[in-house]
Amino acid sequence: MRTIKDIRTLLAALSDVRGKTVGLVPTMGYFHDGHLSLMKAAQKECEVVVVSVFVNPLQFGPQEDFETYPRDPDRDARLAQQAGADILFMPEKDEMYPESPLTKVSVSRVTEGMCGRRRPGHFDGVATVVAKLFNLVRPDKAYFGLKDAQQVAVIKRMTADLNMPVTVVSCPTVREADGLAMSSRNVYLNPEERKQATVLYRALKMAEKEILAGNVHTSEEVERRVQETIEEQPLAEVEYVEMRTYPELNRVTRVNGGTYIVAVAVRFGQTRLIDNVIIHKKDTRYKQ
Ligand code: AMP
Repeated sequence: MRTIKDIRTLLAALSDVRGKTVGLVPTMGYFHDGHLSLMKAAQKECEVVVVSVFVNPLQFGPQEDFETYPRDPDRDARLAQQAGADILFMPEKDEMYPESPLTKVSVSRVTEGMCGRRRPGHFDGVATVVAKLFNLVRPDKAYFGLKDAQQVAVIKRMTADLNMPVTVVSCPTVREADGLAMSSRNVYLNPEERKQATVLYRALKMAEKEILAGNVHTSEEVERRVQETIEEQPLAEVEYVEMRTYPELNRVTRVNGGTYIVAVAVRFGQTRLIDNVIIHKKDTRYKQ
């Protein structure tokens, strides 16, 4: 594996492997098994795996954790190599943004709700940096985790709208044994917060079960019940619970049938956690 910090060297390394299938795994580093699962998926399907590590300032709000976001480049390099990466691209901020960019990629509608509403500008930052990485690496396939399901919807829409010649592959959320979705931000949780944080997945699984059993009929009811379950934990502050269609992310009123997402963002102290479940429900209204 080659670790590369500058764009010129990256482009030279990539020109040596043109003609081979290239898979890209964009990340912000501080790897856990979620990141590694994307690298392994890329390694199975592609001849060359490029992993990028870049804590992208454009996608952090002014009050967010850009400065304190956990970083450990040496450990990341070891883990990426073990997971089969061929190129690890770790640029500094000035390499990616030598000047403050005047151009941005902005995806509307799918960014209106959920994290898009609570983190203004976040998805513009994500779409812009991912577009830059696509232009640099020109991957055949790019791998993203469904832990960030709205991000997957945004990237898929961006590539479709702008005819970017890349296949976006979405991979399942990797969880701790007790159900907590793996996240680089989990290290911020103190032991009591960590214990209570398991409620996210429990509440989402409850919603999934009730939706599939036909026991809930409106998104309002689903959202209320998930919120109530999460709020049983005294340290949990719910930022949002939203049920939408997936991947269009349209609002749902009645739960008839289709593919839905139930997504949550919850704060424990300073730490903001997100999670979701995607549910395929058969429309049983018109029985033969
Ligand atoms: P991040 O470094 O947090 O920006 O994440 C980089 C990529 O890893 C994104 O595509 C995330 O969706 C994905 N990812 C993060 N956590 C998980 C997880 N627990 N399971 C699967 N993919 C994940």
